[in-house]
Amino acid sequence: SRAWSLKSRPNGMPVASDFELIDLPTTALNDGEMRIANRWLSVDPYMRGRMNDVKSYVPPFALGEPMQGGAIGEVIESRAEGFAVGDVVQHFLGWRDEAVLPATQVQKLPALGVPPQQFLGLLGMPGMTGYFGLLHVAEAKAGDVVFVSAAAGAVGSTVVQVAKASGMTVIGSAGGADKCALVKGLGADAVIDYKSEGPLLKKLLAALQGLGKDGIDVYFDNVGGEHLDAALATGNLHARFAICGMIDIYNTSKPTELRYLARLIGMRIRMTGLLVSDHMGKTAEFYRVMGGWLAEGKLKNEETVFEGLDAMPDAFFGLFTGGNTGKMLVKL
Ligand code: NDP
Repeated sequence: SRAWSLKSRPNGMPVASDFELIDLPTTALNDGEMRIANRWLSVDPYMRGRMNDVKSYVPPFALGEPMQGGAIGEVIESRAEGFAVGDVVQHFLGWRDEAVLPATQVQKLPALGVPPQQFLGLLGMPGMTGYFGLLHVAEAKAGDVVFVSAAAGAVGSTVVQVAKASGMTVIGSAGGADKCALVKGLGADAVIDYKSEGPLLKKLLAALQGLGKDGIDVYFDNVGGEHLDAALATGNLHARFAICGMIDIYNTSKPTELRYLARLIGMRIRMTGLLVSDHMGKTAEFYRVMGGWLAEGKLKNEETVFEGLDAMPDAFFGLFTGGNTGKMLVKL
């Protein structure tokens, strides 16, 4: 079987030569293990952080070793109790076509009647990030005005839909007219094309005015930079910011200029860092509530699919150039 490994640590934007396909030897299964043919692989922005040699909440990828990430596959051989050939499962040995794992590191998919790859997106890690980040970290409530950046992406598109299903007003920002139309289609009350001419703050103020609102109650940050600054500039008294990601600076060391940071004080804005792994004890709530909205037709799944293991680095690069709407996936 084959796996992607990191050949060199990217300097700025990752490039193809940072990655290398390596052959993995086929090993016999031990008792309790299963062999899984991967069908769907996930690429996620946080993986960029694992490519740097720095201490973080996940250890860096080791050079020359198979990389890891979310994956969904089919059991093709099993010596694990409770897992049979043909079972579709989720696990963390992505970036490769085949995985051998003990049952303790493999999950069966919840029976929600959706295609399996949705458990890497809307109903998986990014969906949980949006759901728990909005409702538990930012404590957003019906009637709140919510601003979300990277609104056409996996996490952002979930935030838009969870907010609408919960009775909030939503302003979504995304790059380009097509993505903005998509965000509108997901239910957003107003959209901002951050790539169009003009300062972002001006566009946010215009969107607020169009909705007859003075400011935002919640900011869900996927981007950082100018987006965070515009959110600070428009935050209402006691606004809550869930700081989820800062993709604007993942490939650069450029400093973020926050001209409106001092509004934190006057408006008593609460800014909280969010890590989805802190919320894994509440997945039953997530599946129950999201499953209910799904059954009521309140959630749409968005995904962008690259074909084949060879295309995996390209899919990954696409996250930083806006090549995806919804969840970025690789299909094997
Ligand atoms: P997305 O599906 O949103 O893909 C990334 C998107 O970000 C792109 O499609 C692009 O959309 C946008 N983007 C890229 N560069 C920039 C930029 N410089 N400025 C503005 N937008 C940009 O990825 P995810 O939904 O998986 O992740 C979204 C964010 O959430 C990331 O920051 C990620 O790190 C974070 N995250 C955090 C987690 C946590 O536990 N804290 C867990 C999961 C994700 P466009 O075309 O609109 O520019």
